[in-house]
Amino acid sequence: MKNLSDIGLVGLAVMGENLILNMASKGYTVTAYNRSVDKVDNFLAGRAQGKTIRGAHSIEELVASLAKPRKIMLMVKAGKPVDDFIEQLIPHLEPGDIIMDGGNTHFPDTNRRTKYLESKGLLFIGTGVSGGEEGALIGPSIMPGGSPKAWPFVKEIFQNIAAKVDDGSPCCDWVGENGAGHFVKMVHNGIEYGDMQLICEAYHILKEYVGLNADELHQVFKEWNEGELDSYLIEITRDILGYRENGEPLVEKILDTAGQKGTGKWTGVIALDLGIPLTLISEAVFARCLSSQKDERVLASTILSGPTPKFEGDKQAFITDVRHALLASKIISYAQGYLLMREAAKEYGWNLNYGGIALMWRGGCIIRSAFLGKIKTAFDANPNLQNLLLDDYFKDAMHAAQGGWRRVAAAAIANGIPAPSITSALSYFDGYRTARLPANLLQAQRDYFGAHTYERTDKPRGEFFHTNWTGRG
Ligand code: NAP
Repeated sequence: MKNLSDIGLVGLAVMGENLILNMASKGYTVTAYNRSVDKVDNFLAGRAQGKTIRGAHSIEELVASLAKPRKIMLMVKAGKPVDDFIEQLIPHLEPGDIIMDGGNTHFPDTNRRTKYLESKGLLFIGTGVSGGEEGALIGPSIMPGGSPKAWPFVKEIFQNIAAKVDDGSPCCDWVGENGAGHFVKMVHNGIEYGDMQLICEAYHILKEYVGLNADELHQVFKEWNEGELDSYLIEITRDILGYRENGEPLVEKILDTAGQKGTGKWTGVIALDLGIPLTLISEAVFARCLSSQKDERVLASTILSGPTPKFEGDKQAFITDVRHALLASKIISYAQGYLLMREAAKEYGWNLNYGGIALMWRGGCIIRSAFLGKIKTAFDANPNLQNLLLDDYFKDAMHAAQGGWRRVAAAAIANGIPAPSITSALSYFDGYRTARLPANLLQAQRDYFGAHTYERTDKPRGEFFHTNWTGRG
């Protein structure tokens, strides 16, 4: 073990412990610290035994154990605990030392903390870490942003402990200034909400409309995982659908109310603030909200009626249609997520590397998938790509999938199966590819009741008109 540690890590819950073990397995010496110091001793006597890990029982001891510039990573509960630790650390640090926050922090806090610490001569990194506890141990996706000057000092450690894709590239690169890393992690989580909801809608349609049983559903997801939908979430869905308890599929015994921790909501809220039509992720958040109103839904199901699902036709052909609906909707979700990142980059002055972001998500995290390789290729080919849908590969994929997508959306609506993400994604697609939307009428309405004025198609843009629609004075 080196005399001085390469890095210190504060927070010995599941993520912190596993990240420390990951760092030690790559040859780094790490100092572990925790608010409740008994956890330091437990860790040293247990999982950390025999590894290049030392413990600290106070902030002073932690700081004194580190090589300069000191690098201290916080893996504690997001919010006040991060600010509290920052305040405790500041008096003991020197200019150029680096504090890092790897928790699920909302990006405005990271914007604020970066400015604050830089004003004290210190450097700050706010980094998204995805992949759960297993990822932390064997290789997470890491999305760092903050003080650009800090990156050269932590790059090697972060890239060494991150997941690697097939060609060995690490799922970690510099994202951008101040809160950019946490912003990108937030969009990742939003996309995770969308992907999960889309899979749930496909499962619901196949089960309730097509009438597939548990074995058939398991088989469908197994096959899907071998094609263009190959991804961690399809893979775990395959396994979940195949899991039985006392001979019965366990999934059917699970209460249908979904929880959430708020990162999907943050993504929807900022999309509204920035004026980006992030319809799919927002629908996925609302679908969780609706699911949690279980008692009300049970009551409503006895009062409100709709069609009884009745499948007629070729099952195999329709299953292919559902696969197409899933793929096309997923492309919409990523296209919208990238539009949101592009707008945020403009708003906050970040210089985001969009292909690099796809690579960071390509492995180690919950949304990892083969599909992200295609997104990286698209942005590598054209870093200024306006919308993923305009890339040749994705344009062709949408054209190939849209027939099946439309049949699935129509069948879901006609048979009363809720499919908010699949159907709203299709509406976005049709809206985006429509040169003239009915907003002409909307502008007329606004002008009628509020004198908001309108532009005309037969006059230059930027000239505004008002009409006295009633003729009254
Ligand atoms: P956690 O349960 O979110 O937090 C526990 C840690 O925070 C403990 O070290 C605890 O110290 C410390 N803590 C809590 N309240 C504190 C306070 N008021 N002051 C000082 N320290 C406080 O742990 P986690 O699940 O390992 O997650 C750590 C961070 O990573 C979180 O921000 C989480 O959102 C994020 N994250 C988690 C996952 C995951 O899969 N779990 C994945 C990605 C990111 P004590 O032991 O003294 O209570």
